[in-house]
Amino acid sequence: MYSATMPRNFAAKVFGRLMNAAFLSQQHALTDLGPFTGLVWRCVCKELNTLDLTACGGCHEARLWTKDVTPPRYQYGTLLEDLRAALTEWFDDRPKVRRPAAISFRVTTEYDDGPAWATWDTTAYFTDSPTGQTYGEDFERSFVSEALVELGDFDRPQVGDVLRVVIPSPFTEPAEGTRSTEYTYTVSEYAVEAASVLGEGWGTESGYIGAYGKLWGPDGPTYRVFVDEYDDLVVALHDDPDGKRITVDLPNGAPSLPYELRAVGEDIAAIIRANFA
Ligand SMILES: [Zn+2]
Repeated sequence: MYSATMPRNFAAKVFGRLMNAAFLSQQHALTDLGPFTGLVWRCVCKELNTLDLTACGGCHEARLWTKDVTPPRYQYGTLLEDLRAALTEWFDDRPKVRRPAAISFRVTTEYDDGPAWATWDTTAYFTDSPTGQTYGEDFERSFVSEALVELGDFDRPQVGDVLRVVIPSPFTEPAEGTRSTEYTYTVSEYAVEAASVLGEGWGTESGYIGAYGKLWGPDGPTYRVFVDEYDDLVVALHDDPDGKRITVDLPNGAPSLPYELRAVGEDIAAIIRANFA
């Protein structure tokens, strides 16, 4: 969970402190590394801006590449969030690679079974340029390619489709108003608690910013705990989130104390044992 004591604009304060402490040559390095790592963003006009600014403080132009673009046929929902989480992890694992603001994928027709999202020839976008540049590395055999396959299974891409996904800065803070401790635990923490109830051999993985949780047993499928489009907390098979869903009742609302979290974890564990095992 996010600490309520984390100061606002933490990234901006860190960057400001570093700049104030640095000698001129060090400041040159910092103004390169700041946007490279996502600590600040650089505008097309070269001005450095803090992450809370959606328009440049220098030229007042809007920050570029802050919107996803997907084919218009469907809402991609959690499938898109899975892809974003995979891309985020990809670049988290590559600190020497300049962190893009967004990545776009093109459609390939090189496969026998029809058009698909290509893992190669992708385009990286940076906030200081209105045009993208080719990203050299192939996402094959990664969580990114798995997420692309799932997207393609859900909605077969068509030639000419655009899929551009925003990659959040690692220093992005939750928006104002969502920083309160209104909810003590993320949904992914419910899944972690359920795995601990289920015991030995159960593993979990947290979805993007904890919005959902995955869990799996020693030799069963992977389950997903998430809030569905009806605002119900549900358990489903991760590979079939639109299939069988069992609602987790929260008669007292969201848990806010450890024993309440435990009760929700026990409910989720019981649902998995009774309905999916
Ligand atoms: Zn500017």
